[in-house]
Amino acid sequence: MLKNFLSSSLILLAQLPTENPKFMTLKGLLEQSGFQVIMALPPQRGAYGLLQSNSRKIWINPVVFDLNIALPTLIHESVHAAQVCAGEGTIKMLGLDIEPINQARPYFQHYTDIDRRDLEREAYAVQTQPNSFDLAISLLKKHCQIK
Ligand SMILES: [Zn+2]
Repeated sequence: MLKNFLSSSLILLAQLPTENPKFMTLKGLLEQSGFQVIMALPPQRGAYGLLQSNSRKIWINPVVFDLNIALPTLIHESVHAAQVCAGEGTIKMLGLDIEPINQARPYFQHYTDIDRRDLEREAYAVQTQPNSFDLAISLLKKHCQIK
């Protein structure tokens, strides 16, 4: 009973994507870059966001709006999108001269595949910068063909 009440309160407080102008700007830029942004549970269980490089599909788990992490989640996936554009078919590091904050380390250090870990480190590095939104936009503009 109490649990139901709390759940419905969360739904009432949940932010809609359209109420987040920065989220919508970044989503639009991704779409212009040929990526499809799908607001639904990603095929990988437990993920907040997921990018499939060959199909250029990005899933954003709707729970991120409840958790107020929608923008950082989309920024993270935008870095992967720029990595896909830079790799022209595969996915490749952008070679940015920034490091993620220490608190973000547990999120990528568990990857045993070094290439994957480097790609994730780069995404978390951008995501945790104070200017992460502007940085994500400039990376997309630099590496993807924006019409
Ligand atoms: Zn990632």
